Amino acid sequence: MDNGQCNGAQQPRPVFEDSPVFQMAVKQLEGVAKAMNLDPNVLERLAKPKRSLIVSVPIKMDDGHTHNFLGYRVQHSLTSGPAKGGLRYHPSVDLGEVAALAMWMSWKCGIMNLPFGGGKGGIACDPAKMSIGERERLTRRFTEEVLPVIGPRMDVMAPDLGTDEQTMAWIMDTYSMSVGYACPEIVTGKPVELGGCVGRREATGRGVVYCVMQALSELSFGSADATAAVQGFGNVGSVVCQELAKRGVKIVAVSDRYGAIANPRGIDIAALTSHVQAGQLLHEFPGAGRIDAHDVLTTPCTILVPAALERQITGVNAARLRCRVLAEGANGPTTPDADAILADSNIFIIPDVLCNAGGVTVSYFEWVQDMQQFFWSEQQVNQKLEELMLKAFHQVRKLAKTQNLPMRTAALCLGVEKVSKEKARRGLYP
Ligand code: NAD
Repeated sequence: MDNGQCNGAQQPRPVFEDSPVFQMAVKQLEGVAKAMNLDPNVLERLAKPKRSLIVSVPIKMDDGHTHNFLGYRVQHSLTSGPAKGGLRYHPSVDLGEVAALAMWMSWKCGIMNLPFGGGKGGIACDPAKMSIGERERLTRRFTEEVLPVIGPRMDVMAPDLGTDEQTMAWIMDTYSMSVGYACPEIVTGKPVELGGCVGRREATGRGVVYCVMQALSELSFGSADATAAVQGFGNVGSVVCQELAKRGVKIVAVSDRYGAIANPRGIDIAALTSHVQAGQLLHEFPGAGRIDAHDVLTTPCTILVPAALERQITGVNAARLRCRVLAEGANGPTTPDADAILADSNIFIIPDVLCNAGGVTVSYFEWVQDMQQFFWSEQQVNQKLEELMLKAFHQVRKLAKTQNLPMRTAALCLGVEKVSKEKARRGLYP
């Protein structure tokens, strides 16, 4: 029967629907919709991004040739406020991955009760193989190309995998040159001297650790008795290691994209940080032995923190995890297949949409400060971050316990519920 779709013709399939990461995000949403009895008319709207833009980003490379990169910006929802989400530079970036990450951002902002919708962007490139000049030209040209859809009240970017404070400074400058005045509120996660927020760089890792401490306390585990393995030693992973070490947790294994190290007696994180900051390879750190990168995830430990890429804990390795707490610093590190296996284990999962929400929370603080031109101290930032993280953690925990739901389902229910209530209240335009 013709239900009005294109006069009976098949609707074209958006390209993101073929992406395994996007399919994973939709599968999670459908599971949650079932658990919370979501109105199918609202589900129909939430299952696709509101707006997706693909742009060509041609730049002159240092050797004189022109390379045309592909860039993406996806706004999953603009219902609750501007789209908010990171910009990722990685070779595997595609529209589906970006669309999935944008959807997860919507739920994350909902869980944290922030006035934002979910957004995400990325460029398929390998920043480690590009000079600083090439990265600057890439960032500035990308900003020009997405100008029609960004703005402090429309879409506010932040750092993610492969991007940093400097990337945000270039975006802020390019946007400001285009509008004709300094506009720090166009991005968050920028340098403090350009209107960045003290403590933003550390916020995601700190938020992860605030959640981990709650989980340990519920399991009656003292932090001095705990050990941790961390996949990824970038913005999130390195701060998680530092904050855990500060609390007496022994870090027994760490990896990055080039290799992995382990030391059952504990890795000296301050020394490892100096080693990496000096430009040396993590796996050449003298205070630990080299291990296979895949073994980090299955290292026996109290706390496992994936803080690199998505889809790392899968149906293949989930049964081999040897941790008590799985704290998802990365976005989407655990596939639905793995979730099904972990459901039968005693592992306390702190799902990504809750666990790594500290970053967007302090991004929100930064945006508020920039809009008001009134700046907070680091103590105020950290105190408010901890307050909001603990509030969200306990709300999710309570829902999980009272409804007997896995932590991921409970967290997603809270996020989806907030967005769907707002959609229902606003109605369907026109
Ligand atoms: P980053 O680029 O600063 O660091 C990424 C780290 O992962 C690097 O150490 C890199 O070498 C490592 N890595 C890459 N591929 C790897 C592999 N195959 N195996 C092991 N390690 C690998 O990125 P980041 O900002 O720390 O982001 C990490 C994750 O956290 C991403 O999933 C990101 O979406 C998520 N996240 C980041 C923030 C933030 O504020 N930066 C906020 C929320 C979520």
